[in-house]
Amino acid sequence: MKAAILHRRGADGVAVTDVDRPHRPQGWALVRMLAASVNRVDLYMRDNGAGITHALPQIMGVDGIGEIEETDARSTFRKGERVILYPYEFCGTCRHCLAGNQPLCTSARVLGEHRDGTFAEFVTLPEASLRKVPPETDVHQAAALGVAYLTAWRMIFGKATIDPGSVVLIVGAGGGVSHAAAQLALVAGARVIVTTSGAEKTAHFRATGVDHVIDYKTEKVVDTVMQHTGGEGADIVIDNVGEATWGQSLRCTARGGHIVTCGATTGGNPSAELQRLFIRQLSVHGSTMGNLEEFRRLVRAFEAGRFAPHIDSVYPLDRVNDAFARLEHPGRVGKVVIDISAPAGFQEQ
Ligand SMILES: [Zn+2]
Repeated sequence: MKAAILHRRGADGVAVTDVDRPHRPQGWALVRMLAASVNRVDLYMRDNGAGITHALPQIMGVDGIGEIEETDARSTFRKGERVILYPYEFCGTCRHCLAGNQPLCTSARVLGEHRDGTFAEFVTLPEASLRKVPPETDVHQAAALGVAYLTAWRMIFGKATIDPGSVVLIVGAGGGVSHAAAQLALVAGARVIVTTSGAEKTAHFRATGVDHVIDYKTEKVVDTVMQHTGGEGADIVIDNVGEATWGQSLRCTARGGHIVTCGATTGGNPSAELQRLFIRQLSVHGSTMGNLEEFRRLVRAFEAGRFAPHIDSVYPLDRVNDAFARLEHPGRVGKVVIDISAPAGFQEQ
């Protein structure tokens, strides 16, 4: 089968080559992949990978959608059924799994991080990590659910109370997870303020129905947020940008408010500003991915048409390195998808 394999660190370390199909253990399913999406963590694996137990060469890709190719005879899945992949293999018996918090499983293995991933024609996973979706499901949109939208779901619905009276500020909203968070905060009925840059991206967000778009290159973010919140600030701030924006995000958070982070693209060691944290009684939440129940609810909301993942561009598997370049392009808005069943040379933008 064809797969995008990380052979060595660095931008030239990924190649699409032929490898053997994975072996399917009993109780697992063999899935024929249709599409997957690229995520920031793919670039981290490509360029660094420190702190994540794995061995190269390894197949890249964390999320995706496919069709059942083979299962045990007693399986509830049938050949040809569409499934979205939950990106974890989890033990099911540790205290975190028993509490329904699979992302904290002490022996969790994430696709494309600790084991072979989804940028391949076939993937094997325990059946517990698969969720059936109808055959008419949009594969490019569904490919974006497993990481970006699941992560955004937990940040918006799992960490702080959100309701139609909430003000949510999304920092750097063009990124995949941040864009997803803006959409889901709108689904929750919150007032949503986003920061982004450039005429094209500000116009894009104005068309999505968010309450206010701030161009951080030409406007003062803190002043503008205060102006739009009666001087109070946002109840919830979603900041995955990290060092470059953290101080500003603290200043945009209302007294008693919440800051949620799931990434640190510009660096992981901003000033803590402890006085501001305790005097204003701010809560800082770390978040990554979501549990099986959040995954189920996310897919159900998607199937019900409550939101549609925003797709920036689609590349065939052969052009995985172009997809990575697009992920880093400042003009990108939303998700970059790999269409694994597409013919070589295909591109939809
Ligand atoms: Zn576990």
